[in-house]
Amino acid sequence: MRFIQRASQKYDIENDQFISMVVDGRIGEFKHFLTSYEEQWKLEIDELIFRLESGDIVDKTKLSDVSHQASRFHGLYKRERGELKFIKDLRLSNKKEICPYCGSPGCGTLDHYYPKAQFPQFSVIADNLVPCCYRCNKIKGEYFPINKYDRVINPYFDEFSKKFIFQIEFFDVAGVLFFKLLPHFKLLPVEKEIVKSHIRRMKIKDFHTESVLSTFENERDLVGSMLKEGLGEDVVKRVLKNAVDEGFASGRTYDWSLIVKESIASIGTNFELIKKIKMA
Ligand SMILES: [Zn+2]
Repeated sequence: MRFIQRASQKYDIENDQFISMVVDGRIGEFKHFLTSYEEQWKLEIDELIFRLESGDIVDKTKLSDVSHQASRFHGLYKRERGELKFIKDLRLSNKKEICPYCGSPGCGTLDHYYPKAQFPQFSVIADNLVPCCYRCNKIKGEYFPINKYDRVINPYFDEFSKKFIFQIEFFDVAGVLFFKLLPHFKLLPVEKEIVKSHIRRMKIKDFHTESVLSTFENERDLVGSMLKEGLGEDVVKRVLKNAVDEGFASGRTYDWSLIVKESIASIGTNFELIKKIKMA
């Protein structure tokens, strides 16, 4: 999983100041509304940031109902000028990056972690805007965290995404290869629940089935030939782990070849499966 720098830090955005600027820059009825809502708006943003930082969720029922102004808040998101220029920059500057939700190349869009349809007041809050791929933005849609366990991984705040979050268990049924994508065994129980929810919500397994299977087949052949050459299991596992450490150090945490290698080196049943297939 890819952990990325918070947008508010990247653009040095102080939310209180930012909100005041946004209010000052508006005119007419919307300005009138925002002026009366400004202090409350700041409190609700503080609450959002507090919940994100503590890995918890925002209780929608405790927020003001600003749905009657939703289209105007959404208009702010679309405007992309003046004080909101950072939105355009955030989108453009991440275009060629790896999607932090699914690991595919290209982040052409911004996801509202708390969807703007249901949380219009968070439409233009920097830390609510996560660069991601179109597929993930579409799949996540208007889903928002239900509880602290049932939610999508937040690439800005979930620091556990700096570690391996997935492990893969391969098995063979009548010569056909299958796998289970699971939370890594070293994660904490809460982290495991979040990763499970992420895999399910973001359809990570469906999306990557082909590349996981072909990666496994490659690794299986390499490991098999090392074993046939007479290298001991411990040596083979060390070779895999060294490659994993090297890749991890260079930031390739969401890379199926690393995840597969790590799963072969650290999960005995995967290793046994390779021995069974290659040594038969
Ligand atoms: Zn994605």
